[in-house]
Amino acid sequence: MGAIDLPAVQAALEANARLYIGGRWVDAVDRGTFDVINPAQATLLAKVAAAKPEDIDAAVRAARHQFEHGEWSKMNGVERGRLLYRLAELIDRDREQLAMLETLNLGRPLQEPTILDLPMAIDTVRYFAGWADKIEGRTIPTPGYFGRPTHSYTVREPVGVVGAITPWNTPLMIACWKLAPALAAGCTVVIKPSEEAPLTTLHLAKLVEEANFPPGVVNVVPGLGEVAGAALTRHPGVDKISFTGSPEVGREVMRAAADGFKRVALELGGKSPQIILDDADLETAVGGVALGLFFNQGQVCAAGTRIFVHRSRYDQVLQALAGAANAIRLGDPLDPGTNMGSLVSLKQLERVSDYVRTGLGEGAKIVAGGNRPDGPGYFFRPTIFANASNDMRIAQEEIFGPVGAVMAFDETDEAINLANATRYGLAATIWTRDVSRAHQLAARVRAGAVAVNGWAPIDPRLPWGGFKTSGIGRELGWNGIVAVTEEKVITIVL
Ligand code: NDP
Repeated sequence: MGAIDLPAVQAALEANARLYIGGRWVDAVDRGTFDVINPAQATLLAKVAAAKPEDIDAAVRAARHQFEHGEWSKMNGVERGRLLYRLAELIDRDREQLAMLETLNLGRPLQEPTILDLPMAIDTVRYFAGWADKIEGRTIPTPGYFGRPTHSYTVREPVGVVGAITPWNTPLMIACWKLAPALAAGCTVVIKPSEEAPLTTLHLAKLVEEANFPPGVVNVVPGLGEVAGAALTRHPGVDKISFTGSPEVGREVMRAAADGFKRVALELGGKSPQIILDDADLETAVGGVALGLFFNQGQVCAAGTRIFVHRSRYDQVLQALAGAANAIRLGDPLDPGTNMGSLVSLKQLERVSDYVRTGLGEGAKIVAGGNRPDGPGYFFRPTIFANASNDMRIAQEEIFGPVGAVMAFDETDEAINLANATRYGLAATIWTRDVSRAHQLAARVRAGAVAVNGWAPIDPRLPWGGFKTSGIGRELGWNGIVAVTEEKVITIVL
């Protein structure tokens, strides 16, 4: 990481404060804005245009035009792939600036977006650039049609205009998860980033413009969820909504989409189990569990917040996890020595504090953290609960903060039953040295992604999504292409 060019970052903040619709940077129709804060200092960072339903309508019309009649509608996969490769190069060029924007906007230690979000975003765009000219159909033999032979084949066509609604926790990376497959397949996109963290998605729009995507192929419309997000989900010109966020809003999105039978993909939250068997390598397991609990201040959908430990290792693991939590240095996200920054907002700080009080009220015991440090910013100490049970609210509800509950089990069957006793099913980790047990247990966990001896190894080549309340559909990998295409069958009676 080179020296931080703060004037360039400030210039980017000012330049990135408007809506990007139809290839133009515009104010909201009523010139309204909303405040974006720096949560590590609780200060104003930028004022960003707040899209109204009329702005969403303009963005959808621009996307619809390009999809149906524009230059984009005539472009082939090779050309789309080239544009996506160019976009990946530009994100790579601006990676330090983008990591800095993410840090200023989210309060995350700069090293986090630097080592995860930016490489993942770039890799995702490159990966889907590669798919753009490889979206193939199938030929399917049939017995024929009234005695005449037939030739049946399928083609995958873009689903149309995709409305993408993204959360604040890893905004650039998730924007790329939604944008890249959609563009590879030939769709056009309207993205509504979270009002908490719109800045990197707006910078991404700058790069889309610089890469020379035809105007209207990508539109970025920050705004309030219940105004701009709701207008996007209701808009008849949108063919598919790809949503990442909470189950509560996901349910509303699905209801709104039902009217026009929009396709819907929902990536919702989790309450992911981490199971430490009696034969686990404890040093590796404790390090991995701490990563799964505290990365991004615990504001991760796949956070491994329910930790089930074989009773024979319980005390040892509890002590080591408390030690790991206490060793974490909270502070200025720009200081390279900081390993934990602030939560994203005052609202999130209050939510986490409330859950910690709830856990104490339920009879769980804090062995590390449990409060916020003095000073400005929305910081909360990494927190470990002992004496927890799986039916407590702290073990069932998504806290979305650096808080974990450690629980003991005696039998492996019991561990699996506890792991599955949740409304969620996004991710799970099993810590064991026994490859046979690893496979057997992985098959029994009801979750979209099971990892063994490593927490949530995400990769654009691997499908990502949840069982149960954790969502509907899969992003990334070939599934990412399937999710933004319709398979059409064509039969020629010969
Ligand atoms: P929310 O569900 O509150 O918001 C998600 C997005 O939806 C935001 O852009 C929000 O806008 C928008 N929104 C809010 N209300 C509406 C509405 N009525 N109609 C349409 N859009 C709306 O989630 P958060 O942003 O708070 O993110 C945290 C949640 O997301 C957690 O529960 C987490 O688990 C989940 N998540 C899941 C992931 C996964 O892959 N499964 C990944 C990351 C997060 P605004 O911010 O302006 O309100």
